[in-house]
Amino acid sequence: MSVEESYLRCTACDQEAEHVVVYAGRFVSQIQCTGCGAVTRLDVSEDYLPDLRQRISSKPRRLMRRLRRDPGQLATSLPVRTLSKPGRMAQEFRTVWRSRRDS
Ligand SMILES: [Zn+2]
Repeated sequence: MSVEESYLRCTACDQEAEHVVVYAGRFVSQIQCTGCGAVTRLDVSEDYLPDLRQRISSKPRRLMRRLRRDPGQLATSLPVRTLSKPGRMAQEFRTVWRSRRDS
């Protein structure tokens, strides 16, 4: 999950204002107007879940390829990666799930 700010026209208050745009993976899942606070949630679960599945399934093969090429380098970088990635994914997943339940 990542958050970006961009200047958009709000659909609720019809003003040009900073909007906080929340991404789940590469999909926009939530847009909040900083002017009036209106939140627009987009149900990205239809697009996001197959994308996530693809990202997860392609991982072991990539790791194996790197392991064969440079085992020492991977051993030092792996603990950090394995610890930070699931947390980030869980956060993405919660965002997507919220957008789904509310709609
Ligand atoms: Zn607004």
